[in-house]
Amino acid sequence: MSPAPLTAREANLIGCRLCHLLIPMPKEPGHCPRCGARLHQRQPNSIARSWALLIAAMILYLPANLLPITISSSLGTSQSDTILSGVLYLLNSGSWAIALVIFVASLFVPLMKMVILVFLLVSVHRRSRWRPKDRTRLYRLTELVGRWSMVDIYVVTIMVALVRLGALANVDAGPGAAYFAAVVILTMFAAESFDPRLIWDRMEDCDE
Ligand SMILES: [Zn+2]
Repeated sequence: MSPAPLTAREANLIGCRLCHLLIPMPKEPGHCPRCGARLHQRQPNSIARSWALLIAAMILYLPANLLPITISSSLGTSQSDTILSGVLYLLNSGSWAIALVIFVASLFVPLMKMVILVFLLVSVHRRSRWRPKDRTRLYRLTELVGRWSMVDIYVVTIMVALVRLGALANVDAGPGAAYFAAVVILTMFAAESFDPRLIWDRMEDCDE
């Protein structure tokens, strides 16, 4: 086995999180001499902050799915849809491809993202040595999907109304939409707060 590569912390260096400048470890917490960002060896309170945001997201995931996400009206009829009722309606009306996209983007992806973050947080908390590379990959996945999950709310709104009521429909966002947006934003911040270096710190701890 090749020797473990040296980490910045072991070399008594600290890396700037923003501009990635490596500088000798200052005695007191300070700022990056190049870009002025605050220097931290690891993001402060990474786990606690991540948990707080994640739990908030999990709570809001309920109203996001139970409350109507769209209220569409056309020629005097008004119809409100939750994400799931919209998906089922699209499925029944034969638009299964759109139904699938909305199901994956609005129900499956946010749920998976929360499950992955819970898993990562628990694994770091328990000082797990299980497949650090795969866990880092999982983390990267949550970051990647985060960028795309804001798109689907518009897709839901527009597609459901168009299919249900035709092009003349007047579509308003229901209360579920605000909760849904909050879930997306909170999971994004939860992923951002999680410091993936913690996964590898546990590996070093165990080597000693
Ligand atoms: Zn910097």
